[in-house]
Amino acid sequence: MSLITVGTMAFDAIETPFGKVDKIVGGSATYVAYAASNFVNDVKQISIIGYDFPTEELEELKSRGVKVDGVEMITDKKSFFWSGKYHTDMNTRDTLVTDLNVLADFNPIVPESYQGAEFLMLGNLMPKLQMSVINQLKVRPKLIVMDTMNFWMDIALDDLKEVLTKVDVLLVNDGEARQLSNEVSLVKAAKKIMTMGPKFLIIKKGEHGALLFHENHVFYAPALPLEEVFDPTGAGDTFAGGFIGHLAKTKDISFENMKTAIIVGSAMASYCVEKFGPERLKEVNKADIQSRIDEFVQLVSFDIDLV
Ligand code: AMP
Repeated sequence: MSLITVGTMAFDAIETPFGKVDKIVGGSATYVAYAASNFVNDVKQISIIGYDFPTEELEELKSRGVKVDGVEMITDKKSFFWSGKYHTDMNTRDTLVTDLNVLADFNPIVPESYQGAEFLMLGNLMPKLQMSVINQLKVRPKLIVMDTMNFWMDIALDDLKEVLTKVDVLLVNDGEARQLSNEVSLVKAAKKIMTMGPKFLIIKKGEHGALLFHENHVFYAPALPLEEVFDPTGAGDTFAGGFIGHLAKTKDISFENMKTAIIVGSAMASYCVEKFGPERLKEVNKADIQSRIDEFVQLVSFDIDLV
């Protein structure tokens, strides 16, 4: 089963209460690809990098079955750079710097070899570029999942709303759901957003888990209570990669299977936050992922014996 992933491949500078890194590989598509490659052996990446992006990182992704034919390299410009600082609760952060660099004139081209993919993960990126990828696909994928962020709601809301009309699943955090819908109640926000295009909506609530909405149904998955959250950067993208990776692997896009996919995404995200950048994701294997999924099952399973 093949999956196209689109998004940034970047350098990040991150400060959390536990430490600071000035330059580490990041980017929405990087995290999505690392997470999804555990489930799909044909991840087709679309992104753009500058001369400074490490070759070893591309090799590492390739060794996991990630195709990089759609990753454009600009030899005289730097890669996208983002810098953020987390507050003490780690659920909120301030963006300090967003340097578009190569992203400023990115015009994604879908390689011929990517056509026919059944799943599309639109990672966080300019909405216009997400739209351009959708428009280039000759056959509409079975499922289109979109991630975005407040940054694009602030500067490109109309474009974002246009992409929303084309996607099946939208992933946002609680603050973004409120911003997009102008509603305080998340239930009202979800109802409104689902009239904008997506039939399914996932609202991520950081250490408080995630909600999946569809029609009148809602499913809640907790986040695993971890002793140490080192760096939440990329947790959302990693969640997205695990979510769509599971759906693509099982080829089942029902609401029931999306519940499982949310647990898989949460398990992947719980590993991501244990180290800076995507480092921890490179270490985990299938057995680790299974044991974390088992921990989730334990976390929420209970019997009620009413007498
Ligand atoms: P997350 O923590 O899941 O929201 O993702 C953080 C990653 O997204 C970082 O590695 C950044 O490089 C990347 N990122 C930050 N801002 C943007 C943006 N405006 N567009 C695309 N990617 C971004």
